[in-house]
Amino acid sequence: MNELYIKLQSKFEEMVVIRRYLHERPELSHQEVHTPAYIANYHRKLGLEVREGVGERGVVATLRGGKPGKTVALRADFDALAIQELNDLPYKSKNDGVMHACGHDGHTATLLVLANVLAEMREEIEGNVVFIHQHAEELAPGGAKAMIEDCCLEGVDVIFGTHLWAPTPLGDILVREGAIMAAADRFEITIQGKGGHGAEPHHSIDAIVIGSQFVTQLQTLVSRRVDPLQSAVVSVGHFEATNPFNVIADTVRLKGTVRTFDENVRTLLEKEIEQLLQAVCTGMHATYEYSYILGYPPVVNHVNETHFVADVAAQVPGVERVIECPPFMIGEDFAYYMEHVPGTFFITGAKHPEWEQAYPHHHARFDFDERAMLIAAQVLGEATLNYLKAEESNR
Ligand code: MN
Repeated sequence: MNELYIKLQSKFEEMVVIRRYLHERPELSHQEVHTPAYIANYHRKLGLEVREGVGERGVVATLRGGKPGKTVALRADFDALAIQELNDLPYKSKNDGVMHACGHDGHTATLLVLANVLAEMREEIEGNVVFIHQHAEELAPGGAKAMIEDCCLEGVDVIFGTHLWAPTPLGDILVREGAIMAAADRFEITIQGKGGHGAEPHHSIDAIVIGSQFVTQLQTLVSRRVDPLQSAVVSVGHFEATNPFNVIADTVRLKGTVRTFDENVRTLLEKEIEQLLQAVCTGMHATYEYSYILGYPPVVNHVNETHFVADVAAQVPGVERVIECPPFMIGEDFAYYMEHVPGTFFITGAKHPEWEQAYPHHHARFDFDERAMLIAAQVLGEATLNYLKAEESNR
């Protein structure tokens, strides 16, 4: 058992206390005030260099090791969701209608205590560690992009991050090189026909018929336009036309989501959706408005860094399996960091062994096994120290 693990294990209680403190005081994306102040204060007490208000509300703390070397960044997000907590726990949310229902309270506690331990080991660290505490992960455009524009990656050589994941058993670490999470985009369409009497369709242009035709044709994009070895989803979740039963619709409004893992597929679909829309509308005498709203890009893990973390994780106490996972269809703005520096984002299993099934993330009864925080801290900490140590020989 190395020094890092012993120190982290001895501070596990503190991790739990911090997590529960934050859990009771969740704050919505772009409205975080007390959480970043708490984080900054904690790091300041450790003697780290602290920068607040980074990219609006983020906190960046830098630990300078006793010896020169490279710089590793570790990221934790700290925002919560507009959900009324239904758990009956002693540390239940005290803020009405707001809940840490994605485990970001756990991410924050993990990183703070890891900073505490690494600060104690400062003299032997060869290089620097940058702790990136990010606001607003849950709400695009998100905090990551703004924090990067505000220089949070300055001097950073590599970045590591994790998400505690309640549906995955405690002891499992999920890794994947390449795309691990999807780009989640949105489109909005208005089809403009010409309203009229339901009995006189030849004097009008029926927007409902045109919209229906378009939605049906849309189903061929993934099957006929996208490379069958790639994956994508196009779903229309909103189709709106509100007229009396005997009136031909003047307009319909559609909204949908597009999920992809590959930038080329993403660009292709943005273009193809409009091409189809244009063709259907032209052929049926209607006009349209189309907007495609980009969400987070896909989270694409770098190959070497992913293998590096996977190898480290396999040796960490409490880790039973390191599994290469299929990609997740959810979005994460960790994607932006890895557009600038190499890195990897992995999943830390957090399902309590006694739970038959965990409540999903973003559920009013969401919770996770707190021991996952210790595992995450050990993997992140050991990856950091090994990366900095390996620097001279391998990198
Ligand atoms: Mn999350």
